[in-house]
Amino acid sequence: MSALEFKGRTLVVATMHGKEKIIVPPLEARLGVRGVVAPGLDTDRFGTFTGEIPREGSPLEAARRKVLAALDATGESLGIASEGSFGPHPAIPFMAADVELLLLVDRDNDLELVAQEVSPDTNYGRRACRTLAEVETFARQVLFPSHALIVHGGNVHEKELVTKGIADPARLREAAGAVLSRQGVVTVETDMRAFHNPSRMRVIAKATEALLQKLASPCPACGWPGFVPKEKVPGLPCSWCGEPTSLALAVVSRCDRCGHAHNQHYPDGLRKSDPAYCDGCNP
Ligand SMILES: [Zn+2]
Ligand SMILES: [Zn+2]
Repeated sequence: MSALEFKGRTLVVATMHGKEKIIVPPLEARLGVRGVVAPGLDTDRFGTFTGEIPREGSPLEAARRKVLAALDATGESLGIASEGSFGPHPAIPFMAADVELLLLVDRDNDLELVAQEVSPDTNYGRRACRTLAEVETFARQVLFPSHALIVHGGNVHEKELVTKGIADPARLREAAGAVLSRQGVVTVETDMRAFHNPSRMRVIAKATEALLQKLASPCPACGWPGFVPKEKVPGLPCSWCGEPTSLALAVVSRCDRCGHAHNQHYPDGLRKSDPAYCDGCNP
């Protein structure tokens, strides 16, 4: 079976905030598609990071709503959307993470392909400050002014106190000072819209790479894309006592369409585990 081909097709990008500048060039170069940004699509209506409009459902559902809206609006059949989430890192305690999800939908082939990148490379944060000095300290910690800030009065629905996209120290002092003189406390948070946030752009670029990797990995049985390792089988034997450890003995690739599976043993090239990972030798 040959892999799916996208060459010559139009790819509708359901995005605002400049993400297409990161996503489109590698897809055009490697898939031979022509990227177009869905005209007039207001992706903010599917949710904003600051919470004026809450996102409904999971990030995947949000991305799906965006792609389908863009395909319906343009009459095209191939589309892509991205969705970012920020919060505690799923694997590293006390660390913030940026989770960037990309969803490719191909209505002609009934394909939905998801790629995700989880990265601690994020400046995500917010703080309530009582002085301009506190504001400036926090601003430095979250990579201002290369990364923009949002200032508000603690309630984003109070629109007259909200300033977004601040990337200039004088403007930060002015916006934060106005809120401080009015109520004595100002909330400063990172502006996570992609074109205001170079860290986020880097993670989106990695997610795009992961998507291309999946597209370049067809199932050997049926050609469906996304035949990449998905599950880990623990049990790599300890080099001292031979008992199974939590390290991977194998990884399993499985086709989403036909179920064909392939076990790759010793994915890290090691046949024995360091005893440090053994429950018996190193409790
Ligand atoms: Zn298959
Ligand atoms: Zn052992």
